[in-house]
Amino acid sequence: MQAILDRIAADMALVTDRGKVATYIPELARQSTAPFGIAVALPGGQVVQAGDSATGFSIQSISKVFTLAIALGRLGDQLWTRVGREPSGHAFNSILQLEHENGIPRNPLINAGAIAVTDAILAGHQPREVLGELLRFIRLAAEDDDIHINKSVAASEQATAHRNIALAEFMAAHGNLKNPAALTIGTYVHQCAVEMTCAQLARAGLFLVGTQGCPRLVSPARIRRINALMMMCGHYDGSGEFAYRVGLPGKSGVGGGILAIAPGRAAIAAWSPGLNARGNSALGTLAMEHLVRATGWSVFG
Ligand code: GLN
Repeated sequence: MQAILDRIAADMALVTDRGKVATYIPELARQSTAPFGIAVALPGGQVVQAGDSATGFSIQSISKVFTLAIALGRLGDQLWTRVGREPSGHAFNSILQLEHENGIPRNPLINAGAIAVTDAILAGHQPREVLGELLRFIRLAAEDDDIHINKSVAASEQATAHRNIALAEFMAAHGNLKNPAALTIGTYVHQCAVEMTCAQLARAGLFLVGTQGCPRLVSPARIRRINALMMMCGHYDGSGEFAYRVGLPGKSGVGGGILAIAPGRAAIAAWSPGLNARGNSALGTLAMEHLVRATGWSVFG
C-alpha cells in the first residue's frame, strides 16, 4: 500500500491541469493548487499515507456525512420528512429544485439538504452543543482529540453566505426550517470549517467501513444507507462521473478534500485544493481512480 500511495503522489505532482480553488469563500481562495495528500485507513486503525497527508484543510461538505450520521441517530427515519434521498443533478448550492419540490431538498449531501439536517439536529439545542457533539463524534471516529474548527474559515464563509442564507430562508418559507436562518447557517458554516489532515479524515471515515476493527458508531444497516447516499449524491452533479471513474461511495468538499469508503476494506482521504467544473477536487478524484485501479477496490468489481 505504501508503494501504491507513493506512486500516486509522484504521479499527481506531475499533473499540470490541477483545477481551480474555490473563490466564493475568501479564506479558501488563498489556497494554492500545489498540495496533494492521500491517506488510507485500514481496519484496526493503521494509516498509510503519502504527499501532504499531514497538512490540515477544511473538510467543508464532507462534514455532511457526519451530521447525517448524527441526525439519523437522533431522529431515525423521521429525518426523511425533511429531506429526500435522490441524486440532484444540480450544483451543490443550487436553489432551482427547491422551488419545484416545495422546499424539500433532494438529499442530505447537497447544501440545502445539509442545512435541513443541521436545522433538525439543532432542535432544542444551542449551536455550541451541536458543534460540540459533531466534534466529539469525529474525534471518537478518528480516535484523535486534536481535531478543531478553523474559526477564520468559518468567519470567512459566514460573511459571504448569501446563497446558503437564501436556501435556508426558502426552506423556512415552506415550513422546512425550524430555527432562525441565521442560527442554522451560523452552525452550518462552523461544521464546514472543521479542519483535518488526510490521515485524520481517513481514520474518521473508518466507522463507515463496517468491518471488524472499525469504530461501531452507527448500525450496519445505517452504514449501508449512508454509503448508498454517498455513492448517489456525494459529488453533486458529478456523482455519476465519480461512480464511473472510481466506483466507491464518496463525499467531496469545496476545500479540495474527498473521503471515499471501500466497504469492508478501508477509508480513503485525498486532498488537493484545485476543483473541477463540478466543484470536486480534480487531483483527489484522479488519485482515487488510480488507487482503485491498483487495488481493485471498486464496489463494482
Ligand atoms: N461550506 C460550503 C458551502 O456551503 C460547502 C460546499 C462544498 O463543500 N461543496 O458552500
